[in-house]
Amino acid sequence: MSKSQVKTNTLQLSKDDMKRYGYQVIDAIVEHFDTEHLKKPVAYASRKEMDLLFNSDIPEKETHYQDILDIVTTKILPNSNIVSHPKSYSFVPGPSNFVSVMADTLATGFNIFSGGWVASPAAAEIEIITMNWLLKLFKFPTKKGGGIFTSGGSMANLTALVTARRQHCGDDFSKAVIYMSDQAHSSNIKAIRVLGFKKEQVRIIPTDLEFKMAINKLKNAIAKDRLEGFQPFCIIASAGTTNTGSIDPLDAIAAICKTEKLWFHIDGAYGGAAMLSQKGKQALKGIEKANSLTIDPHKWLFQPYEMGCLLIRNHKWLSNTFSEKPEYLRDVEGNTSEINFYDHGIQLTRRFRALKFYISMKTFGLDAFRNAITYSINLAELTESHLRKSPNWEVISPATLAVINFRYNPIKKSFSEKKLDQINQEISQKVLASREALLVTTVLQGQIVLRMCLINPRTTLKDVKETLTLCESFAKDLLV
Ligand SMILES: *Cc1c(COP(=O)(O)O)cnc(C)c1O
Repeated sequence: MSKSQVKTNTLQLSKDDMKRYGYQVIDAIVEHFDTEHLKKPVAYASRKEMDLLFNSDIPEKETHYQDILDIVTTKILPNSNIVSHPKSYSFVPGPSNFVSVMADTLATGFNIFSGGWVASPAAAEIEIITMNWLLKLFKFPTKKGGGIFTSGGSMANLTALVTARRQHCGDDFSKAVIYMSDQAHSSNIKAIRVLGFKKEQVRIIPTDLEFKMAINKLKNAIAKDRLEGFQPFCIIASAGTTNTGSIDPLDAIAAICKTEKLWFHIDGAYGGAAMLSQKGKQALKGIEKANSLTIDPHKWLFQPYEMGCLLIRNHKWLSNTFSEKPEYLRDVEGNTSEINFYDHGIQLTRRFRALKFYISMKTFGLDAFRNAITYSINLAELTESHLRKSPNWEVISPATLAVINFRYNPIKKSFSEKKLDQINQEISQKVLASREALLVTTVLQGQIVLRMCLINPRTTLKDVKETLTLCESFAKDLLV
C-alpha cells in the first residue's frame, strides 16, 4: 500500500483517495443489500472475543485508511445481527431500504443542520412537507397539526409526554397520574422516569385476554384516583403492542379522555404504519382522535436507523413546550410560517432525517409502501393458518398487525406447562446458536412462547416454513 495521502492536520483526504474510499463504502453497502439473505442473521460473540479483536489504546499516529476500512468491513460490520435479514423475526426487525440509506449518506455528507429555517430552508421545508403527508395519512388536522422527526419511538414518546405535561399540568405535577396498560412499551415508563414522576403517579392497567387495555379497569382506576385527590392527566394507548400487535380500544379511550379531560397519547411506534393497509386502517379506527401519536419510520416504514416521529393535533403545543430564546439565536428566528424545528422538540442540532423519508416516498411511491405493509399483515395470517394445521404447534396469540406468537406443543404428547416453557426456550436457544434465524421468546400470560414479527417485505412464507422446520428438528432432539 502506498503511503497514505492523508492531509493529516486538516483531517482531509485527497480527492482521489476520497473517491477510492467512497466507492469501496458504496460497494460494501450494495454487496450487503444484494447478499444479506445468503448470510446468517445472528451475530454471536462474547465480550472477551470482541476485546481480542478491538481492544486498543487511542492511537497517536496515523494508519493508512485502507487498513482501517478493511477492519471495519471484515471485522466490525459482520459482528452485528442483520436486522433486515428475511429470517430476522425478533423484536421489531429493521428492513431498511437502499434509497433511504443513500439519503442518510447525503445528509451526513453535506452535514445539513436541520435545526432552524435560516440554516437550511429546504431541509425545514422537507420536514414540514413530509410531516403534512403523515398528518394526512393519520387523519390528523393538517392546518393546525404538526410534528417532529426524532431519533426513534422512545424520543417521540418522551417528547409527547413533556408536551402533555406542559399543556395539562403547568408547573405543579405532584398529583398528576398517567395510565397505560401492562403491555405498553417500556420506553413510556422510561420517559415518565426521565420526567421525574414518582412511581405512585403511574397506573398500570391490566389487559384482557387479547392483550388490550381493560376499559372497565381503566375507568375504575380514574374514578378511584379522583376520590383520593389525584389529578388524572394522560392515558397512553398502544396502537400495536410490541409483544402481540394488539391495539387498545382507541375509540373507547378517546371517549374517556374527552369526558375526563385527559391527554390522549397513542404509542403507535410499532403498529401505526399499518394505517397504510386496508385491514390496518380498520383496526386502528380512532387513532385520529389522539392529542399526540408516536410512529416509528425506522420500523414498519422501512427507514434505516434512526427515525421516529411524533404527530400532534396542534403544532403550537410543541412550540409552547420547547421554545427557548437564547441571545445567540435572536438573529435566526425567521417568520412564524418558517418553522425552526429546534422550537418543536428537545434537540437543537439535528440531522436531516426527513430527507430519507422524502426520497424513499418519492422514489417508490406510497403504493409500494401500502403493498409492502399489506403483504406483511397477510404473511402473518398465512403463518397462522400454517401453524394451526400443524400437529406440533399451538397458536398463542393470533396474527395481529404482522405479529404472531406460538409455541411447540405437539398434540400427541401432553407436557406440563413447565416442560413446555423449557422446550420452547431451548428451541429458541438452539435456533440462535445455529445462527440460521433470529427467533427469540416472549412471555404471554405466564407462558414462554416464540414470537415472529413479520414486517420485512423480503420475508417469504418459505422462509417462515424453513424456520419452523428447523425448530421442529431441534424440538425432536430435545425430546429424545
Ligand atoms: C419500538 C417501540 C418503541 C421504542 O421505539 P425506539 O425507536 O426503539 O426508540 C416504543 N413503543 C413501541 C410500541 C415500540 O414498538
